[in-house]
Amino acid sequence: MSSPLSFVHPTADSPWGTYLSQVDRVMPYLGHLARWGETLKRPKRTLIVDIPIELDDGTVAHFEGYRVQHNMSRGPGKGGVRYHPDVTLEEVMALSAWMTVKTAAVNLPYGGAKGGIRVDPSKLSMKELERMTRRYTSEIGIIIGPQQDIPAPDVNTNGQIMAWMMDTYSMNVGGTATGVVTGKPIHLGGSLGRVKATGRGVFVTGREAARRIGMPLDGARVAVQGFGNVGSSAAELFAQAGAKIVAVQDHTGTIVNSNGMDLAELMPVLKRDGGVGNFKGAERIDNEAFWDVKCDILIPAALEGQIDAKRAERITAKLVLEGANGPTVPSADDILADRGVLVVPDVICNAGGVTVSYFEWVQDFSSFFWSEDEINVRLDKIMVDALKKIWDTADRHKISLRTATFAVACERILMAREERGLYP
Ligand code: NAD
Repeated sequence: MSSPLSFVHPTADSPWGTYLSQVDRVMPYLGHLARWGETLKRPKRTLIVDIPIELDDGTVAHFEGYRVQHNMSRGPGKGGVRYHPDVTLEEVMALSAWMTVKTAAVNLPYGGAKGGIRVDPSKLSMKELERMTRRYTSEIGIIIGPQQDIPAPDVNTNGQIMAWMMDTYSMNVGGTATGVVTGKPIHLGGSLGRVKATGRGVFVTGREAARRIGMPLDGARVAVQGFGNVGSSAAELFAQAGAKIVAVQDHTGTIVNSNGMDLAELMPVLKRDGGVGNFKGAERIDNEAFWDVKCDILIPAALEGQIDAKRAERITAKLVLEGANGPTVPSADDILADRGVLVVPDVICNAGGVTVSYFEWVQDFSSFFWSEDEINVRLDKIMVDALKKIWDTADRHKISLRTATFAVACERILMAREERGLYP
């Protein structure tokens, strides 16, 4: 792992450090395109903005915001916006780079970008959240746009925040520009199926991987970390396929039930409390004990760096489905591989969200909208085809699915780089 940049100082397990070592691992498989490999280690553009807002009590607060466009060789930037107190420039850089790889892995005509604000949104009122979102959108307005860079939801952002972003951008350019963000509410140019698309993609890649390793979903025990948009949607689809959700962890606690939880009872609790910690249909356990729970499938769907070397030794699952971005550090990847645990990496596993975001963007341009069935069928096909190509690549080179996904994606990215040539 080596960083050519002066303004970040990654460690082996930090998000950007993790990404750099993933790039180093794919280099031997890129043939003559490896000559362009350095491109992948440098974001094209990083923007840091100050976001001053007036709080409800009349005081002025400042927040630090970012938008990073990692690579745009294959098209406009695409990637979510995260509101979290631990967001840093380095984290946003890594998330933007994983977007570059992800959009190429499913062959969408996009580059990779990501944004974030270093804030705990639970401490803001709705009005403060709106003012912060609007000011952030104006500040990054100089680099986003339907043909430049298209934000979307990520951790702690949702359809309402996308609606404010779309409105702010539209006000600034003087015309409704629905295509500037995706993940919008349906009546503002959003797409059916978008809210649950990432979880659906996790399910589809999980279903295909399970089939290929001969693991029946009916009766499979599933443990989920992070029960927000991605984790809860994936869990619902696994439960519908007959799997048992035996453990769930979120920021409010960890709950287990070896018979499988009744999601019809759990979902209203999640809606009421904003977390699963108080659910009565399961037993509450210590957070760290989550990693020892007996399960067949583990879905990390919270934040980066959750599976470190120590936890990788304890995981009992045979299949890990990375709903979150960057949940596994490189040393843990090696341990899981040695232990025969199959990891479907984030850069393909959670690509369902950006795929339906692409459908939303296309629908916005044509002002012609598809049915939810059409969306889900198209999503399923894109995910299955992409995973097949990655699986074949992994088999051919005897490499992990992660390195195979990087190989497929980086070949497309660097081919575009080479064909476009260097400007001027
Ligand atoms: P979300 O805000 O809806 O949910 C986040 C979940 O993580 C919540 O359940 C929260 O309680 C939990 N969490 C937070 N901190 C935790 C901790 N320390 N321990 C355990 N749980 C914790 O976010 P989301 O949109 O579901 O995103 C989850 C992950 O999926 C992120 O890594 C995100 O980048 C990735 N992702 C999201 C999308 C999308 O479309 N939303 C697409 C691709 C990838």
